Amino acid sequence: MGPVHAGLVKLQSVENRLRAAKAKLTRCRRSVILQENQVRTQQNAFEAKKEEIQLTKVQLNRLELELRSREDQVARLRAALNSSKTNKEYAAILTQLNTTRADNSKIETQVLDLMKDIEADEAQARDLQQQIDEQKKQLDTTRVDAEQSAVKLQADIDEIQAEWDQAAKDIPAEPLEIFKRVAETYDGEAVVEIEQQGGDRGAFSCGGCFMGITNEVVNLLMTRDEILRCPNCTRIVVYHPKEA
Ligand SMILES: [Zn+2]
Repeated sequence: MGPVHAGLVKLQSVENRLRAAKAKLTRCRRSVILQENQVRTQQNAFEAKKEEIQLTKVQLNRLELELRSREDQVARLRAALNSSKTNKEYAAILTQLNTTRADNSKIETQVLDLMKDIEADEAQARDLQQQIDEQKKQLDTTRVDAEQSAVKLQADIDEIQAEWDQAAKDIPAEPLEIFKRVAETYDGEAVVEIEQQGGDRGAFSCGGCFMGITNEVVNLLMTRDEILRCPNCTRIVVYHPKEA
C-alpha cells in the first residue's frame, strides 16, 4: 500500500474514533434534554389537573347556591302549608313541597359526586406534584453528571481532533477533500477495504456496499497510489492483500 492509501486508512481509523466521541457527547446532552421534557410533560399534566379542579369547584359553588335558595323555598312552602285555609290549597302546596324536595335531593347527590371528584383530583394533583419534585431532583443530578462528562468528552474530542489534523497533513489536498465529502455521505465511512471472497482466486467486493469490484481496479490499486472509488457507492476503496 502506497503512502496516500496508508494515510487514508490511518485517517479513517481516527475519523471513526472522532465520530464515536462526538456521538457520546451528543448522547450525554440528550439525556438531560429527555429528562427536561419529562418534567415539562408532568408539569403540564399538573396544570391541567389544577384547572379541572377549579372548573369543578365553580360548578359545585353554583349547585350549592341553587340548593340554598331551594331550601329557602322549602321553608317558605312549609310556612304556607301551616297557614293554608282550605284542603285544596293544602294539597296544592304539599305537591309543590314534595316536588321541590325531590329536586333538592337530586341536587344534593350531584353536590356529593362533585365533592368526591374534587377529592380524587386533588389526590392525583398531589401525586403529580410529588413525582415532579422527585424528577426535578433527579434532573439536577443528571445535569451535574452530564456537565462533568461533557467536559471530559470534549477533552477527548479535542485530543482526537488534533490526531485527525496530524493524520490529514500526510494526505494531498484532493484526496483529502474527497475523503471529507464521502465521510459526510456515509456517516464517517469514507475508506473501505476491498474484500476477497473464498480465498486467493475468489471474487473481489467493496467492503462498504458489497458490490463486485473488477480485477482491473484491484490491479490498479496494487500498482498505483491513486484514489479509486467504488463504482456503486462511491466510497474510496483500498486493497490490502492478505499475507500468504
Ligand atoms: Zn461500494
